[in-house]
Amino acid sequence: MSNVFNPQLIDRFGRKVDYLRISVTDRCDFRCLYCMAEEMTFLPRAQILTLEEIYTICEAFTELGVKKIRVTGGEPLVRKSLLTLLEKIGRISTLNELVLTTNGSHLPQMATDLKRVNVKRVNISLDTLNAVKFKEITRTGNLQQVLLGIEAAKQAGFERIKINAVILKNRNHNEVCDLVQFAIDKVIDISFIEEMPLGIVNEHDRAVTYYSSDLIKTDLEQCFSLIPSIEKTGGPSNYYYIEGTDTRVGFISPHSANFCSTCNRVRLTVEGRLLLCLGNEHSVDLKQVIRANPGDKNYLKQVIIEAMKIKPEKHEFNLEEQPVILRYMNTTGG
Ligand code: SAM
Ligand code: SF4
Repeated sequence: MSNVFNPQLIDRFGRKVDYLRISVTDRCDFRCLYCMAEEMTFLPRAQILTLEEIYTICEAFTELGVKKIRVTGGEPLVRKSLLTLLEKIGRISTLNELVLTTNGSHLPQMATDLKRVNVKRVNISLDTLNAVKFKEITRTGNLQQVLLGIEAAKQAGFERIKINAVILKNRNHNEVCDLVQFAIDKVIDISFIEEMPLGIVNEHDRAVTYYSSDLIKTDLEQCFSLIPSIEKTGGPSNYYYIEGTDTRVGFISPHSANFCSTCNRVRLTVEGRLLLCLGNEHSVDLKQVIRANPGDKNYLKQVIIEAMKIKPEKHEFNLEEQPVILRYMNTTGG
């Protein structure tokens, strides 16, 4: 139980929250068609948290028992002076893990510095190994640059590197074996993600392009032997080892396998909204709290503790309906 000496964040369903994901920017050099609309309007600077405000919130969370922080976005590596923020977060002694999710395009220049400031692990998004398709899916991305980024991350020596691949039917579903083979060759992990209905995208109908984790697994079993991993990561992924390799394959299946009962995380949006669940709008405006009460970290911590009371039991994703969640993944912190 939480007490003054050992404060913890525990919600109404007895779930302990010890993991914070932060969107540090809504901006991105890519426009992935499942994540953003082609034309995006980004938020004005005054509306997004400053790096100092993000740090204050990180301090408060770690004092409340949070052990893992993931920095994401948008593309986190396009946020100016991000390394300074990471360096400060990386020095918080009670934090076990500072990790990052990136599209990889800036890793060739930044991987070594990220390792230096204590980033332990990186997730890199890669949905296809075909350069033309890569351009189609990301609209503005360059496959070669991302492959160089993956190589740079390997050279920098992170504890673990993982590929994240969002699989869409008739777009990249036929590449799942190739993507796993790529991960095996690079001695890294890979997770397949079912597309989530966040924000309105007109480019495709998400109910039509839905390709379930079960289908991906069946496809993979044609090429590899998958051995279930008993390892519990506390995350939404179900993991398998590929026999005879060090590569793990994860499945993030918000539609086909609900993972809410073990949820240990909350998110900080780029605007400073503490989001209690990815698939619901329950939130508390921490930006307002810190701007109205500068320097009052105890009050901030009290608000965070109280926020646990509104963490919903489960997400409400439904691919058949127009998204109820109008925010896009980039502001949310995917
Ligand atoms: N820009 C970075 C990247 O692409 O890795 C970090 C932010 S991105 C929003 C984080 C992850 O969310 C990526 O792996 C991306 O593929 C995934 N993602 C984005 N939109 C999604 C959606 N609608 N459904 C499922 N995953 C999504
Ligand atoms: Fe950018 Fe990542 Fe969204 Fe792609 S998934 S548009 S890289 S934020």
